[in-house]
Amino acid sequence: TAITPSIGYAPAGKQVMAYTRREPIGVVAAITPWNSPLLMAAMKLAPALCAGCTVVLKPAEETSLTAIRLCELMLEAGLPAGVVNLLTGFGAEVGDALARHPGVAKVAFTGSTEVGRILLGSARGNLKKLTLELGGKSPAIVMADADLSRAIPGVARGIFANSGQVCVAGSRIYVQRPLYEAMAEGLVRAAGRLRLGHGLDPASDLGPLVSPEQAARVAAYVAGGRAAGAEVLAGGTGFPEAPAFFAPTVVAGVTPDMALMREEIFGPVTAITPFDEPEEALALANDTDYGLAASVWTESLSAAHRMAAAVRAGTVWVNCHSYFSPELPKGGMKTSGWGVENGPNGLENYLETKTVCMVV
Ligand code: ADP
Repeated sequence: TAITPSIGYAPAGKQVMAYTRREPIGVVAAITPWNSPLLMAAMKLAPALCAGCTVVLKPAEETSLTAIRLCELMLEAGLPAGVVNLLTGFGAEVGDALARHPGVAKVAFTGSTEVGRILLGSARGNLKKLTLELGGKSPAIVMADADLSRAIPGVARGIFANSGQVCVAGSRIYVQRPLYEAMAEGLVRAAGRLRLGHGLDPASDLGPLVSPEQAARVAAYVAGGRAAGAEVLAGGTGFPEAPAFFAPTVVAGVTPDMALMREEIFGPVTAITPFDEPEEALALANDTDYGLAASVWTESLSAAHRMAAAVRAGTVWVNCHSYFSPELPKGGMKTSGWGVENGPNGLENYLETKTVCMVV
């Protein structure tokens, strides 16, 4: 972009000419999690390559194979060797080495808030630029004028898709009192209808969680909630014969202090809570350290805009949840992250601005 400086020091007969160049930031370490592994890799690879960077991809240790296949396909498609590089391995070892490496200019990370905090330290040596897409505890707010025929399946999908292993999963559902019973019943029915089965069987609605350990973690959250007085309306159980599965679960009576309400579960578990006034819903929705996403369900245009403005979250959906498209910027407020992926903002992450100013 050409710029005309307002302060000119040019000697007589000369003029100042300036412009900016957008340059690739350099070698990018893309560190990705195990949920939606191909999508996570693509969201970093596409803008990094468009910007002219080279990438070292470090997939989650649970999903190395899809990353290997993706890189094979990129080579087959003609990508020059060395442009995208793959390093599989454990985070604390391989991920950490990449985050510390002086040859890496930027870390693009998606994962837990806990590891995001660690990266702030490990990337400090050469002051790597960081984008951090971290955890969430996203609310779905159902107003009294919502269209339940859309809100029930939409909210159910918002939490149960991919068995809840989605960073934006709607794990806190707040329903305005007149619709509370109908919404709770509808969600319970929707949860009960989902068919659990092999992840590659087209007849399955939900596959297993990523591992039996993850299912056990989810079970522990539900058990903790039960012990603290919460009421399980649907699901709430694992399956001893299939230890990586967990039933789609709806829990009522979850108070703001319970881990079930505060921590990211990464499983098919949601808390449903009634509210009376919109202000109360906003206070509850914002009562979290996270700020990744939220949805509002209403037929009122003004309520939609008011709530969308007041919820502290990187994305607010109205009458939908988990709607993604490469054009839509996706970022997190509060402890949900730094920076924005996708859209024009996503490309910016991989570019640096250089100013060239000359007297000619
Ligand atoms: P999740 O909870 O989604 O599994 P994690 O934050 O544990 O998220 O992992 C996301 C990615 O970060 C994975 O690729 C993992 O290997 C990597 N990772 C984990 N610990 C570290 C670390 N200390 N430094 C760098 N990368 C790490």
